[in-house]
Amino acid sequence: MPVPASSSFDQEAMLQGLLEWVAIESPTNCAERVNRMISVVARRLAELGAAIETLPGRGGHGDAVRARFSSAEETPGILVLAHLDTVHPVGTLERALPIRREGDRCYGPGIFDMKGGTFIAVEAMRQVLQTHGKTPLPVTFLLIPDEEIGSPTTRALIEAEARRSKYVLVPEPAQDRGRLITGRWAFARFILTARGQPAHAGANTGSGRSAIHEMAQQILRIEGLSRPQDNVTFSVGTIHGGTFVNVVPLECSAQVLAVAPSQVELEWIRGTMLDLAPISPGVEFRVEEGPVRPLFEASSGTLEIFTLARQLAREIGFEIEHGSVGGGSDGNFTGAPVIDLKASGFVATVFTPTANTFWSPRLCRGPGSSPACSPNSAERLRPACAVRPERSERPGDPRPG
Ligand SMILES: [Zn+2]
Repeated sequence: MPVPASSSFDQEAMLQGLLEWVAIESPTNCAERVNRMISVVARRLAELGAAIETLPGRGGHGDAVRARFSSAEETPGILVLAHLDTVHPVGTLERALPIRREGDRCYGPGIFDMKGGTFIAVEAMRQVLQTHGKTPLPVTFLLIPDEEIGSPTTRALIEAEARRSKYVLVPEPAQDRGRLITGRWAFARFILTARGQPAHAGANTGSGRSAIHEMAQQILRIEGLSRPQDNVTFSVGTIHGGTFVNVVPLECSAQVLAVAPSQVELEWIRGTMLDLAPISPGVEFRVEEGPVRPLFEASSGTLEIFTLARQLAREIGFEIEHGSVGGGSDGNFTGAPVIDLKASGFVATVFTPTANTFWSPRLCRGPGSSPACSPNSAERLRPACAVRPERSERPGDPRPG
């Protein structure tokens, strides 16, 4: 596709537009707010000419939206796969992470993961349409409400839409130095439940069986299975247990996120977790599987599209690399071995803004720091702005999904 001569990104206007999105807090567990956020983006896409279809949320989660831009020819097209939920609870804006700007950095909940990338993708689409009227391939934006908890209600939708597409672009944040993500490790979640025997902790001293005590031992055992040098990690992220301080706790539950860099390691993790037995006598302990993000490995199609992206980046004047990382995303579903890439003919890759800290109060985005902010980059689908590294990641640091 020829490069449009007249397109240009107005970074200041884009940042202001993005901050309006960031001001709408949209944690996954608050369907009403996620819907508000998604409807703002859907409205914007409708203004640009997309046909909007709202797919009602299930299980208390927000709605998904499919926005289609038709092309001259009805053929498999480009899927832009974006989630608009965040991990930041309502109230984060007022307390932990208010919107603020410091030099070339901006801070706010979800600005990095992934409202920034989504905003840039929408703006890129606007510029392409402005220049060409129509795209050679149809473009579909799929807006997801529950990615941060593993997309339990939208996985089938994502896979079906990916099968229909020739290319999948996921505007998640890129890795250090702007590396594009062409593969992601597998994530497996597990729900742990311990059930003890209640007793009055003060009156019946020494009797009862504590579910919390059992869980504490299990957590040490499970996290002790981590092999960070092999990028295999187990992390217990939530725990709930007990009712009153004077009652030996009857129940305790926890959730584990395990990361595997290969199918073999994923199978080992599953087998090991599902085989766990109680440690204390007289206590029940159960492990159930939660949502899994399958391994996303670069196919030849993925590498083909990366080669194209690198060529375009060079024309603009910068170099890009690519690689496989942790931090599952919805891209895991589109690039997973469960889908026959040859049969469906689609490839997946990830074009994203750059930064290297997730979800800390230093989440940020720095306008003006990337050569891709130059005119003519709309069709590059390369996000406009990069962020300077805040800290170096340890190899094998699990990235959140
Ligand atoms: Zn994300």
